[in-house]
Amino acid sequence: MRAAIGDVYGLNPDRIICGAGSDEILSLIAYAYLGAGDEAIYSEHGFLVYDIAIRAAGAVPVIAPEQDLTTDVDAILARVTAKTKMVFIANPNNPTGTYLPFEEVRRLHAGLPAHVLLVLDAAYGEYVRRNDYESGLELAATADNVIMTRTFSKVYGLANLRLGWGFGPAHVIDALNRIRGPFNVSGVAIAAGVAAVKDRDFLSRAVEHNDKWLPWVTSELEALGLKVTPSVGNFVLVHFPDEQGKRAVDADAYLLDNGCVLRLVGNYGLPNALRMSIGTEDANRTVVGLLKSFLGQA
Ligand SMILES: *Cc1c(COP(=O)(O)O)cnc(C)c1O
Repeated sequence: MRAAIGDVYGLNPDRIICGAGSDEILSLIAYAYLGAGDEAIYSEHGFLVYDIAIRAAGAVPVIAPEQDLTTDVDAILARVTAKTKMVFIANPNNPTGTYLPFEEVRRLHAGLPAHVLLVLDAAYGEYVRRNDYESGLELAATADNVIMTRTFSKVYGLANLRLGWGFGPAHVIDALNRIRGPFNVSGVAIAAGVAAVKDRDFLSRAVEHNDKWLPWVTSELEALGLKVTPSVGNFVLVHFPDEQGKRAVDADAYLLDNGCVLRLVGNYGLPNALRMSIGTEDANRTVVGLLKSFLGQA
């Protein structure tokens, strides 16, 4: 698996670690480097596995507020203390769909003390079509305190197989290898992962599908009067009116009744929004049509 990834991305396989989903890699990072008395920072609406991993390792999560539902580098840097050991960034972030341009990631890295590990989670990196975006490969290749994580769960659609990977400095990968279970990734997952990572054609088609339907879903929902956070991932965060019967919980119940599963994101501090994945043409049209009737516009 590591050889296949190294081949495709031009990386040294010795500096790659595979896990049962990137969630396992994120947990291993926390267990390896965090303990009682330590602090780790993540962003206000950041991916919640960071909070779980930080707490499970016995450390204290420190939450940096966001600007416009986007990670705020200055807010993170302002929260670095003598106890800070780690910073987690999902770029792009789930569930907001927003991203940090690479210059901002660099500025964050430059502002961190050398002993703070910067974890760049690029679970949706393949989808991003912005010239100022970089997944973190370059920083993880050159800096001593940066690790990047990737997953087969999103663009490859293999979430149920549980396969993810990390790329970082040799000393970090060595530490993670010492504490991971010896058989953490199954043979079936490896076989599928090797085939998937080599299938560049599938990747292009998946990304092209998103290129077409992400703007379509966004503009259709906006035409219904809903606010949609601009996304560079394969999902959108949809905000509902603060009106009796028209809130996100009501929309969610209505959609579920009609066979469509979106995601309430109250746990992420977004009580009146739903996250909607970009689906097949049929699924996208169905959800837009249902929301139209829900809002009384059909
Ligand atoms: C889905 C996701 C992951 C991890 O997924 P795995 O299935 O564990 O690989 C990590 N980070 C973000 C931001 C995600 O959305």
